[in-house]
Amino acid sequence: MPPNLNIVPFVSVDHMMKLVLGIGVERFLAELAGYIEADFHRWEQFDKTARVAAHSRDGVIELMPASDGRLYGFKYVNGHPKNTRDGRQTVTAFGVLADVANGYPLLLSEMTLLTALRTAATSAVAARHLARPDAATMAIIGNGAQSEFQALAFKALLGIRRLRLFDIDPSATRKCTDNLAGFGFDIVQCRSTQEAVAGADVITTATADKQNANILTDNQVGAGVHINAVGGDCPGKTELHRDILLRAAIFVEFTPQTRVEGEIQQLDAEHPVTELWQVITGKAAGRAAAGAITLFDSVGFAVEDFSALRYVRDNLAPGLFQELDLLADPDEPRDLFGMLLRAQHAAAGALPATPPPMR
Ligand code: NAD
Repeated sequence: MPPNLNIVPFVSVDHMMKLVLGIGVERFLAELAGYIEADFHRWEQFDKTARVAAHSRDGVIELMPASDGRLYGFKYVNGHPKNTRDGRQTVTAFGVLADVANGYPLLLSEMTLLTALRTAATSAVAARHLARPDAATMAIIGNGAQSEFQALAFKALLGIRRLRLFDIDPSATRKCTDNLAGFGFDIVQCRSTQEAVAGADVITTATADKQNANILTDNQVGAGVHINAVGGDCPGKTELHRDILLRAAIFVEFTPQTRVEGEIQQLDAEHPVTELWQVITGKAAGRAAAGAITLFDSVGFAVEDFSALRYVRDNLAPGLFQELDLLADPDEPRDLFGMLLRAQHAAAGALPATPPPMR
């Protein structure tokens, strides 16, 4: 960490790639999952708020804050499914970790890669608690930016090596297959959702479309399956047919947020759901029987971003950040305007020797 308290470390996309590759993506996912699980263990210590969302015709911009009373984190993130047509990401993000004691930022980081990593790590943590222990095959419907991270997190945490991929755009499936070559997967490229889910123990849906879609219909979900529903994460943006929800045991991150944004927006507000932290801490049961259908209705919650920022900060090393001049640092804290004047004098070549004393 930089010794100067007024310098904020900035982790760029390039630095994040160096950090992930230096640690190794699967180890990164496993260790990040450990941070997320540790923070879910102390869930009740967190100041939690449903994210603040600004919706527009084609997408959403969201602010996601969380604090454990010692550290404060927030993420800026968007979701614009049509962006890929213009060569932009559907989801892009950055975030800050700060010291609650003095309010100073401790870290500014890119979070586009980090969001994909933390989403996948959270999905795998949930599946480790909810999927059948013998789960060996995962279908991934939607083979875009999130898909490889999901596959690798499920391999790192659950040992899943058999993948069945489907995307309405075959080039996305080819991209995902090519990117995962060399990671030890047995991959089947499928021509339909129906084909992809055949024999799958886990079904991950990670599609992007701003509508109430039926990516998965009720007849496609057999007994004992765990569904990891990642793509339905906004009002009016869901992936699963409602009948699936009526058959499944549903697990969520933070109920007030998921009621508005998750698959369960299709259900009555009283429909029973269990928060994942309750399963992790043993306060609630997870899978009731081998034949049960479990559903992790993932929307992404601020505590996961907090955990991810914490993990990045703990792994910062020289060469993995840039020192950012983000905080004003006048010689006398109350002489902010004097700092400006001295800069003006310095620029004119007439810097006073010392700042004027404060009375
Ligand atoms: P992306 O645009 O890169 O990929 C989405 C893929 O879904 C595309 O390849 C598209 O062709 C495919 N697709 C669309 N409709 C489909 C359908 N009917 N059947 C099969 N495939 C279909 O998006 P991404 O960054 O991979 O994100 C995927 C989804 O996950 C988005 O909706 C995003 O908002 C969501 N997301 C959720 C979280 C979370 O925490 N839950 C985090 C990040 C992203």
